[in-house]
Amino acid sequence: MADAHLIATTQAPRESWREAMADLISSGEELLASLGLDSEALGLSAEAARTFPLRVPRAFAARMRRGDPNDPLLRQVLAVREETLPAPGFGADPTGEQGDANPRRGVIHKYHGRLLLVVTGSCAIHCRYCFRRHFPYGDNQNSRKEWGEALDYIAADPEVHEVILSGGDPLVAGDRALAELVQSIAAIPHVKRLRVHTRLPVVIPERVTDGLLQALAGTRLPCVVVLHSNHHRELDAAVADSCRQMAAAGITLLNQAVLLRGVNDNLDAQLQLAERLFELGVLPYYLHLLDKVDGASHFDIPEALALELHHAMAARLPGYLLPRLVREVAGAPAKMAVTAG
Ligand SMILES: *Cc1c(COP(=O)(O)O)cnc(C)c1O
Ligand code: SF4
Repeated sequence: MADAHLIATTQAPRESWREAMADLISSGEELLASLGLDSEALGLSAEAARTFPLRVPRAFAARMRRGDPNDPLLRQVLAVREETLPAPGFGADPTGEQGDANPRRGVIHKYHGRLLLVVTGSCAIHCRYCFRRHFPYGDNQNSRKEWGEALDYIAADPEVHEVILSGGDPLVAGDRALAELVQSIAAIPHVKRLRVHTRLPVVIPERVTDGLLQALAGTRLPCVVVLHSNHHRELDAAVADSCRQMAAAGITLLNQAVLLRGVNDNLDAQLQLAERLFELGVLPYYLHLLDKVDGASHFDIPEALALELHHAMAARLPGYLLPRLVREVAGAPAKMAVTAG
């Protein structure tokens, strides 16, 4: 965690989520052994883990099924040989975030009216399909002083109505640092909404502390938390509890998922995810097609199949539980709806 400058502030008593962050599983062999699985048979790759290290919270690993090499949670985190194979059409910056869209350190401004702040490059979990796995976070790790520049950028553009805390995972930052940042954002009069894109409440639910709720929901800004969960089995009782606390604090809860081969590429998995999210007070927002990032081609689903699956979901779910099927197109003014033809 030393690479996340924002959390360098002194945090009084050690919180349990920080203990979980300090005790992540970083060895594929260890993870597989704990599940009673054979690392050779699963195609574990040290080379893949060198480019993007394996990183899994123990609470997340505990939800994996013992003895199941196809476990949908395991597949999302395991560094495997397929990642190292060349894949035509896959690249390092498929979403076009490394050029003009990155006007200040830590600011990604691609869409009208809203922008992303890269609060930290760190995550509690490393998802193998992540489109940011090659993003030059080293250049986007702001010190406290540099946040001033990002905030000046927002203050200078009256059309920025929504600020999205992103990363990495912004909730890797501590409560105090987040509270300070959110207060500075709330002090900019034309900002109307705060949004947070995070996977932490799913993978380490204890991250939802009173201090965090106060930081996110304690200003004049309405707060939307967009979770990232891809499978209903990620959403256990502890996650449900964290969601209840966020909802009770007045936070609007949405979810984005990525459509992933071998994880959630079937109707049953998508229906169960939607139903489980609703039980937690979370509405499905986006179902993303995979970004074509190097190392993730083994998760790819052809667009026609994705569309077919989405039509089948639409035939089974109420409209408010149907996520929008979208794709990121470099240079486009918004996430693009995936449609026939
Ligand atoms: C996805 C994204 C947003 C948010 O888009 P919405 O459609 O409002 O959810 C904003 N900025 C960037 C750079 C994004 O990638
Ligand atoms: S939590 Fe999000 S940003 Fe972090 S590795 Fe997973 S998908 Fe990427």
